[in-house]
Amino acid sequence: MKKILVTGGAGFIGSNFIKYMLDKYPEYKIINLDLLTYAGNLENLAEVENLPNYTFVKGDICDGSLVNQLVSEGVNYIINFAAESHVDRSIEDPGIFIRTNVMGMQILLNAALKNKIDKFVQISTDEVYGSLGETGYFTEETPLAPNSPYSASKAGADMLVRAYYETFKLPVNITRCSNNYGPYQFPEKLIPLIIANAQEDKEIPVYGDGLNIRDWLHVKDHCRAIDAVLHRGKPGEVYNIGGNNERKNIEIVKTILEILNKPESLIKFVTDRPGHDRRYAIDATKIKKELEWEPSYPFEKGIKETIKWYQENKEWLDKVRQGEYREYYQRVYGNR
Ligand code: NAD
Repeated sequence: MKKILVTGGAGFIGSNFIKYMLDKYPEYKIINLDLLTYAGNLENLAEVENLPNYTFVKGDICDGSLVNQLVSEGVNYIINFAAESHVDRSIEDPGIFIRTNVMGMQILLNAALKNKIDKFVQISTDEVYGSLGETGYFTEETPLAPNSPYSASKAGADMLVRAYYETFKLPVNITRCSNNYGPYQFPEKLIPLIIANAQEDKEIPVYGDGLNIRDWLHVKDHCRAIDAVLHRGKPGEVYNIGGNNERKNIEIVKTILEILNKPESLIKFVTDRPGHDRRYAIDATKIKKELEWEPSYPFEKGIKETIKWYQENKEWLDKVRQGEYREYYQRVYGNR
């Protein structure tokens, strides 16, 4: 029996991870600490909310006494998903990214150290490495060169995690994953935004020339990788996680439109995001060799299943697109 504190577990990846873990390890106890910001949604966890080994706590990772109290109650592992995660919002308002992603990180690390936990896994991102040219891949040795306030805050968090290992020997791992897609992703992110707008024949905003490249991984493959790192990752190590699945943004848009049988005339090129990274691509050799992890979802299958999920869960989508999301969307894209 292990007790895991998952932070940010009501968001996209965290909620998929909690369900994956409760299914695979029914003997584990999971505490989900989440502030329920605009991105947190307890409906993502409806199917597990009544399980006796799952507990939800609404709270802030920056609240030192709450975090310390939770960790002191026999927590073995902490997995930190809690973050402000949207690059565009970090350009509008960087301060909250520093507070949650950097200062919250230090609170969590301190509680982990004080209570001598067995493993701390920080869910980082490939964006900390900056941007690639037309060739090459990010390895774990690639120097950090973040370009957005979001990626800079994640890089700051990574540096703290590293320091707690080097200075205090806290058993940590950092995972740096490429772009995730799958069910329950908040529709400000590229893939659910395209699906949601296309379903309603609304314009699909595409930044710049649409030729930016991302390496897409199904969220379930990411969850399997985190499981491998949690249980088998060597303390102090960083693991890159990627799907070997590079796609131009415009290709993603066209693929989704084709599957939904919608016209390409819905595509609307908009002014590029400042500091927009051109290409991300992950070399995941280390996790494949050392932890025997492999991605299992071919993109063609994953994207079809994901579209089907959004079609079948229109109520979920409609709900999360009310209120705060609507205000944000109008501020950024106008009344399109
Ligand atoms: P998300 O925005 O969907 O979820 C973030 C969650 O954190 C939300 O539930 C939110 O309520 C919670 N949260 C925010 N501030 C908090 C605070 N102060 N205290 C407690 N909870 C708080 O994000 P996601 O896409 O699920 O990403 C999860 C993690 O994975 C993030 O750290 C992100 O940087 C990283 N990541 C994401 C991707 C991706 O493609 N989505 C890729 C690589 C890494």
